[in-house]
Amino acid sequence: MPNERVERNEPILKECPYCKRAYPTSGFTKTKSVFFPDGYLSVCNNCIDSSLRKNEYSWKAVDKMCQLVDIPFVPYFWEDTKRGNPRNPFAIYAALYYGKEND
Ligand SMILES: [Zn+2]
Repeated sequence: MPNERVERNEPILKECPYCKRAYPTSGFTKTKSVFFPDGYLSVCNNCIDSSLRKNEYSWKAVDKMCQLVDIPFVPYFWEDTKRGNPRNPFAIYAALYYGKEND
């Protein structure tokens, strides 16, 4: 089993296919989905946020995004996260969720 606690020290830039900008991996949402073998979504957090914002953060849109990241959509937890984090609430939701799981 790979040790998930091993973190690479060198900064790795990853390019988002939508905005064509390169970000360190912290600009991407972590996922355990098998569709993203490097452990991060291919689309950057900013693009995810603007896509969800276009949908006015509808539960349907957020739920779809949760399926992509392979985390459950918990409406009350989402609403709480969104209220407390007007910027990139989805990235924070996903990070909090994985944080919870690791406790
Ligand atoms: Zn992007």
